Amino acid sequence: MAVLVTGGAGYIGSHAVAALLERGEDVVVADNLQQGHKDAVLGGKLYVGDLRDGDFLDQVFGGNAIDAVIHFAANSLVGESMKDPGKYYHNNVYGTLCLLEKMNKYGVNKIVFSSTAATYGEPESVPIDELDRTLPTNAYGETKLAMEKMMKWFDVAHGIKFVSLRYFNAAGAHESGKIGEDHSPETHLVPLVLQTALGQRPHISVFGDDYPTEDGTCIRDYIHVSDLADAHVLAVERLRKGGGSAVYNLGNGQGFSVKQVIGIARAVTGKDIPAVVESRRAGDPAVLVASSKRARDELGWNPTRNKLEDIIGSAWAWHKANPRGYNDK
Ligand code: UDP
Repeated sequence: MAVLVTGGAGYIGSHAVAALLERGEDVVVADNLQQGHKDAVLGGKLYVGDLRDGDFLDQVFGGNAIDAVIHFAANSLVGESMKDPGKYYHNNVYGTLCLLEKMNKYGVNKIVFSSTAATYGEPESVPIDELDRTLPTNAYGETKLAMEKMMKWFDVAHGIKFVSLRYFNAAGAHESGKIGEDHSPETHLVPLVLQTALGQRPHISVFGDDYPTEDGTCIRDYIHVSDLADAHVLAVERLRKGGGSAVYNLGNGQGFSVKQVIGIARAVTGKDIPAVVESRRAGDPAVLVASSKRARDELGWNPTRNKLEDIIGSAWAWHKANPRGYNDK
């Protein structure tokens, strides 16, 4: 049986595809290549199309013996979601509805979902536990929460079991050097800092230094993308063994401020990396740090690449070798 990976040509999706292939799984990828890269798909069968296109999904499900889906395909930029929420509702929420309807039609009853810490909003306490209040502060997080809730009702009505993985901040690149982070436009802190180190940008902007944190900049929990990928494989295994629906946080449990990230990147790269403080970005909570105890206990997840120096080091290796991302492939 094959695992369908939607959005498998994207940053985290491509690392999950790599992890599945490393374990000898049959992989089918569905991606519209709006943000994904063909060269990021290291194996399996790639279908290019959109989840909102019913004929396209009929081809994918009709042409392959799929027993589980890992669902990444979505828009994922906080800033953009605040300017164009309709795009997020259409692609993320409606796209997921189309996918779940087809899963139901083809009798596929296992889905692992790429969710986010943005579902919590401003946390009540840190580290964040899965039972904490979910009150998103941005439209992106709101759509991901809506997608999770939709899955809950498809479980109730149709027995489609889901594992929702709420990631904190993904960073780093695959150890092979073959795949890494390449968004266009790039908005994420770690790749932007490293592009500054490469001289591609004059400085890194620090979005606000008046948050209620020690140095005034936002604190995030950075997790290696390959550790995230491993959690998806474990989640598929759990569902195949008959496990019920569940939600898990994925993070290292340790927070780093924007200024600390820039400092570590300076040490890793040996470059200057000029930084300029600017105003806050809309929708950003001050602190997001995970408690991933549940994922460790119930999935047996054991993130091993957890030093931020090493996470940024692996990203730096990718950016140095591919300064224009997949255009260098
Ligand atoms: N950030 C920043 N400058 C940038 C990009 C991001 O200061 O050019 C900050 C952002 O406000 C947030 C943190 O870095 O506090 C991580 O942002 P990113 O977009 O990487 O991930 P997110 O937390 O939105 O998932």
